[in-house]
Amino acid sequence: MGAQVIDVVIIGAGPAGLQAAVHAVRKKASVLVLGKAKRSAIYRAHVENYLCVDGVTEGSEMLKVGREQVVRFGAEIAEEDALEIQKKADFFLVRTETGKDVTARTLILATGTTRSKLNVKGEKKLLGLGVSYCVDCDANFFRNVPVAVVGNESSAVDGALTLLGYASEVFLIAKKISVSEELGRKLADSKIKLMEGTWVKEIIGDSELKGLLLEDDSTLIVEGVFIELGAKNAIELATTIDVQLDTETFSYIATDKKQKTNIPGIYAAGDVAGPPHQMAKAVGEGCVAGWKAANFARIMKKKM
Ligand SMILES: Cc1cc2nc3c(=O)[nH]c(=O)nc-3n(C[C@H](O)[C@H](O)[C@H](O)COP(=O)(O)OP(=O)(O)OC[C@H]3O[C@@H](n4cnc5c(N)ncnc54)[C@H](O)[C@@H]3O)c2cc1C
Repeated sequence: MGAQVIDVVIIGAGPAGLQAAVHAVRKKASVLVLGKAKRSAIYRAHVENYLCVDGVTEGSEMLKVGREQVVRFGAEIAEEDALEIQKKADFFLVRTETGKDVTARTLILATGTTRSKLNVKGEKKLLGLGVSYCVDCDANFFRNVPVAVVGNESSAVDGALTLLGYASEVFLIAKKISVSEELGRKLADSKIKLMEGTWVKEIIGDSELKGLLLEDDSTLIVEGVFIELGAKNAIELATTIDVQLDTETFSYIATDKKQKTNIPGIYAAGDVAGPPHQMAKAVGEGCVAGWKAANFARIMKKKM
């Protein structure tokens, strides 16, 4: 990952992202894939409905072969999360969890489906009444009040750091923090109140959030809780640059048949672009997105 401009940066290293990388790199684009194999939905699957693959194949094995193929063709893969996307003139800037800024001509969002839930009492009832899944969308509603973030990984730590600029106190509830050294350092140097080794048992409140019941049966008084499990999903990443969602469920990135979003130069593929959530669809859309993004990057280069 150098300081140069990369033609196609793919956020997501599942079937959609890897297939996009294959097609973009074969079109001679420079390609960087960001994402973790173990975080792909297919990693733990036993797959037997994928065409031309006989019997049952482990998803983890398919990803391993896919990654080797992508690297052999000349793309780079970085096992790290994207934390932020910005638009800068004709380029996109992607900030990663190790603090790197990657400059891209085009972006492919292939981050899989939306964020996991905590699945605890009160979570559903208090959604929008103190429970949020998106710091970048909702931080402003929690000015000068105490809030908690729940999660172990990059989105939780980055979210908690963002909330320091809004909330009066920020608690980070984690079983075990697992982030890059860079993000770990930022956490240690910050005013975030880390509560490691515990978890949320219940979200308390009727018409508004009153607090959290923790595993040790203690109560933490907060007015908001941000559930930030795993990496930032595409919808969170996309909020800062106004990528449109589908108008029916507002749960997926809206694309056309060329996998184009409403922002020129940004494509989306796979589960993040809607159902059916199947590898065959992810791979098909990845192919189109990789192809189109490489073409777009080439046109942009010629213009300069
Ligand atoms: C238990 C289970 C069994 C399944 N079985 C089958 C099956 O038999 N057949 C079938 O066709 N499908 C199956 N599926 C569905 C299939 O796994 C998905 O449709 C497919 O993995 C979607 O691919 P994707 O690339 O869109 O997303 P994913 O495979 O989920 O990959 C998402 C990628 O995005 C990365 N990412 C997310 N956020 C960020 C970020 N902020 N920065 C960087 N990277 C990020 C993740 O690390 C991951 O690498 C199964 C799913 C599950 C959960």
